[in-house]
Amino acid sequence: MNFEDIKNICVVGAGNMGHQIALQAAICGYKVKCFDVNQETLKKADAFVDSYLPGRVEKGRLTTEQAQAARGNIQFVDSLESAAGDADFVIEAATEVLSLKRKIFADLDRIAPKHAILATNSSAIVSSKIADATQRQDKVLNMHFFNPALVMKLVEVVKGPHVSDESADLTMELCRVFQKVPVLLKKEVDGFLLNRIFAAISREASWLLEMGVAEVEDIDNACVYGAGHPMGPFRLNDLTGLDLSYIMRMEKFRETGNPADLPNPRLVEHYMKGEYGEKTGKGWYDYSGKK
Ligand code: NAD
Repeated sequence: MNFEDIKNICVVGAGNMGHQIALQAAICGYKVKCFDVNQETLKKADAFVDSYLPGRVEKGRLTTEQAQAARGNIQFVDSLESAAGDADFVIEAATEVLSLKRKIFADLDRIAPKHAILATNSSAIVSSKIADATQRQDKVLNMHFFNPALVMKLVEVVKGPHVSDESADLTMELCRVFQKVPVLLKKEVDGFLLNRIFAAISREASWLLEMGVAEVEDIDNACVYGAGHPMGPFRLNDLTGLDLSYIMRMEKFRETGNPADLPNPRLVEHYMKGEYGEKTGKGWYDYSGKK
C-alpha cells in the first residue's frame, strides 16, 4: 500500500483514548468511523466532538471551515462491519484485556480489506501477542498514543519481529500527518519507552506513600515543583485511570507470579470502590463539584 492510499480510518473503542484519536484523525482530513459496543459511550463521544470543535474555532486553532470538515469526517457507529469494512488503517483502542483484543483483531482480519494495517493503542500488550489472531501478522503493530490524545504529541510505534518495514514506515508517516511526533521502538519491550520511565517514578512514589513518608499531594508537588513535571504521578494516574493501572498490574502479576508486581493496597482500595480517577469524580484526588 502507498501512503496516499490511506483514506479511511477505523477506530475501535470510543472511550477515553479512542474518541480523541478518532477526532484527531478527522481534523487531519481522514474519513473516520469510530466503533464502540457501548451506546452511551458513542453518544458521549459524538457530543464531545460537537462541543470541542467550536472551542477550537473560538481559540483560533481551527477555521470554521476546518471544524466543519472535521465534523463531516467523523462518524460514531455501532457496528464493526460498517466501521472497518472499508478501512485502510485501523486503530484499536478498546479495553485493555488481551483476550478481548485478540477477538477484536480476529474479527477485524475478517472484516477489514486485506491491505489494511491493524494497529493497537494498547498501553502494555505487545502486538506479537495479538498478531497471530490474524492472517496478516506483518500488518499488526503497536501505535501507542498518550492521554489526552488530542493534546499529547508523542506516539510510540513498536516494530515487533513480525512487522514489515512497510507497515512501520506507513504508521510513522501517518503519525506525522496526525501532527504527532512518533518514536520507533525497534524491539518489543514491556511497557514501551516512556511508560517504563514513568513506571520507575510511579513505583518509587507508591513506595513512599505506602511507607508513610509523604502524602499523595506532597509527592506530586515534589515532582512538579522540583523536577518540572507537568503533573505528579498520582495526578497523572487520575487522568489515565486507576482501573487501567489496576488491570495492568494484575495482568503483569498473572504473567510473572511475582507479588512485587501486585497493585499497591491503596490502589486496590480505590479500584474496589470504583474510584478510577477524574472519569468517576474521585481517585487519588476528589473532583466532586469540579468541572
Ligand atoms: P476506556 O475504558 O475509556 O475505553 C475503552 C472502550 O472500549 C470502552 O468505551 C468500551 O465500551 C470499549 N469496548 C470494550 N469492548 C469493545 C469491543 N469488543 N469493541 C469495541 N469497543 C469495545 O479505556 P481507554 O483508557 O480509552 O483505553 C483504551 C486502550 O487505550 C487500552 O488498550 C489502553 O491500554 C490504551 N491506552 C490508554 C491510555 C490512557 O491513559 N487511558 C493511554 C494510552 C493507551
